[in-house]
Amino acid sequence: MKTQTATLGYPRIGKKRELKKALEAFWSGQSDESTLKRVVEDIEIANWKKQLETGIDLIGVGDASLYDHVLDWTIRLGLIPERFINLSGSEQYFAMARGQEGIPALEMTKWFDTNYHYLVPEIGSNWQPHNFDDFLGTISRAQAILGKQTVPIILGPLTLLRLSRLEININEAVSGLVQKYSLLLEEVKKLGVVEVQIHEPALVLGDTMNFKALYESTYQTLAAVGVPINLVTYFDDLGDNYPWVVQLPVASLSLDFTRGENLKLLKLHGFPTDKRLGVGIVDARNIWQIQPEATISTLKEIQSFAPDLTIQPSASLQFVPYDAKTETKLPQPLLQVLSFAQQKLEEVKLLADSLNGIASAGDRLEVIRNQWQAFQEFSPVNQEVKKRLENLTSQDLERPLPYEQRQKLQPLLPPFPTTTIGSFPQTSEVRQLRVKLKQGQITQAEYEKAIDAEIAKCIQFQEEAGLDVLVHGEFERTDMVEFFGQQLSGFAFTESGWVQSYGSRCVRPPIIYGDVARTKPMTIREFQVAQSLTDKIVKGMLTGPVTMINWSFTRTDIPRREQAMQIALALRDEVADLEAAGAKMVQIDEPALREGLPLKPERWHEYLSWAVDAFRLAAGIAKPETQIHTHMCYSEFGDIIEHIEALDADVLSIENSRSNNQTLFEITDAGYKHQVGNGVYDVHSQVIPTTEQMVEQLKTGVANLPVEQIWVNPDCGLKTRRWEEVIPSLKNMVEAARRLREEITSGK
Ligand code: GLN
Ligand code: ZN
Repeated sequence: MKTQTATLGYPRIGKKRELKKALEAFWSGQSDESTLKRVVEDIEIANWKKQLETGIDLIGVGDASLYDHVLDWTIRLGLIPERFINLSGSEQYFAMARGQEGIPALEMTKWFDTNYHYLVPEIGSNWQPHNFDDFLGTISRAQAILGKQTVPIILGPLTLLRLSRLEININEAVSGLVQKYSLLLEEVKKLGVVEVQIHEPALVLGDTMNFKALYESTYQTLAAVGVPINLVTYFDDLGDNYPWVVQLPVASLSLDFTRGENLKLLKLHGFPTDKRLGVGIVDARNIWQIQPEATISTLKEIQSFAPDLTIQPSASLQFVPYDAKTETKLPQPLLQVLSFAQQKLEEVKLLADSLNGIASAGDRLEVIRNQWQAFQEFSPVNQEVKKRLENLTSQDLERPLPYEQRQKLQPLLPPFPTTTIGSFPQTSEVRQLRVKLKQGQITQAEYEKAIDAEIAKCIQFQEEAGLDVLVHGEFERTDMVEFFGQQLSGFAFTESGWVQSYGSRCVRPPIIYGDVARTKPMTIREFQVAQSLTDKIVKGMLTGPVTMINWSFTRTDIPRREQAMQIALALRDEVADLEAAGAKMVQIDEPALREGLPLKPERWHEYLSWAVDAFRLAAGIAKPETQIHTHMCYSEFGDIIEHIEALDADVLSIENSRSNNQTLFEITDAGYKHQVGNGVYDVHSQVIPTTEQMVEQLKTGVANLPVEQIWVNPDCGLKTRRWEEVIPSLKNMVEAARRLREEITSGK
């Protein structure tokens, strides 16, 4: 049987981030809606042609979006919350995406365990008429170019439901959705497509068994329309649900063979002979090319259970950048083994060719083998790091004294000590400095002098405002991960390796390709400059190992635990150097700790145990007198609170203002004993918080926690704010702390 090739979605921001530029031009009133839509269509067409030229047989279409594909389906289905109902067209669309004066946007949250963020649909009782015109129009446009190879991508009804905020009874919601999806499939059927992909990644979640009956009845109804359905799952395996999911009445089923245990499940339970299997074997979540031996042998194994296959990426390719070949600065041996979307397409084709016995496939696989060989020589094991890790003992993960005893030795501060999370405004002048340095317009010495002037301004302001614990302001950092990665060996950075984070926001994740090691101190100079200007304590400021891992593309040849421990060792040395340079407090930020949680709860423990160990390895070197702070910005800690305690940080600052003290309650309910800075104002808003409002919030703290445990700080770093906002906000914050101090000393 001939093996075919398929795709499940493609990057949609444009090779040169055309979408970002078009959105920004539109929002600022410099261009109109039709220009914006044309940009998106041009991106789509270029994507379709690429896939066609590379030899993909079944090309997923309809995944492109002005902002977010989940929002697109929300609107198509008529799930318009009351507050947007009087708006229409692009005004309504962007109000739902980004909010409008007096109308809050839909909530945004992470798409499964990826770093993509989607807008959370709200399903209420007030359903508006559906409108599939834009989607059907896209399919027709695609058919003009791709003909029968056009496969519409539809976000599955039950995944949409699972991701939604549900304001009505679930059965009512499902029956409403199924009705609309049936109408959609009727329309799609008229276009004469060979199949549709219905994406149901929610099938891999831990509690899917509870939804078994809903899946069965839903797919019964949808299959009855008569368009062949490819039911697509990804990001993990089907677990216990495998036996019934493979029996759903669909023509094909797509599984992810790069994550989880689908291969084992296939071997254990087999696969129905009347279905085609979509084999997601080219990893859509990472940027490494395939390992020929392992991949081919897995494929042969799969083929012995399911002879009718398509080879495809494990998920949409939206999680990787466009094309590795556009990179000009990476060392050749590394560049050769990188695989972005374009290379992934070529791999899909190559694997299918190989299964189909096409002679040239062998040669191409041989080339890849040799490239890996060359890479191994280029990036050998760092023996010194390896030895250090082997010689670690549990002692290395322990602070020298327990918290209760350390605390007595640590700096004495007034009650309600005030501080910030680290960064101060990254003005365009500050960013311009780096551009000038890169272009050779200023020397390193001139750059440092200018940075030092910013630090001096920042310290002076903090002293004037009356903050208790100061920071240097992080002016030398573009990004909290990039800044450290650039100074560590084993990290590489791309020029155009952008991936969409949400809407117009794109990130360029670093690539961890080798053993990580510190080659020189990374933060000492700026710390010393800052500390030399004040008698108050300046916090040393580091990005934690877990966050570095979670916001990078990591290696696949060694476990994440090991990579995290390597980074932790580098940070451990930095902590020691900061102490030697006089730091009395060091903050190790872990904003991404929670977002690294695996999809299936049974894998949480494994993740959290290495995450906690890595943090403790970095911090464990600190003397008992040194106060270790950490910062997290993801709300919801209730379910992992014991692991947060296990970090054994002396002070934890958290984002809170938008969650209405929820986080604080979770922490206090759990009986957290260390100090907590429960963010007193939202740094994502341009509104200046009032003293009264912060006093009120702090009182919630006092009602729940002993005063000795309470710190006062904003939610997160102030990098994206303007000085005009930061100055009055922090002054009000300090005043709020002062009022509380007064109240407790006057015994109120
Ligand atoms: N120290 C960092 C800052 O203030 C923390 C950022 C974050 O939590 N994402 O910018
Ligand atoms: Zn934060």
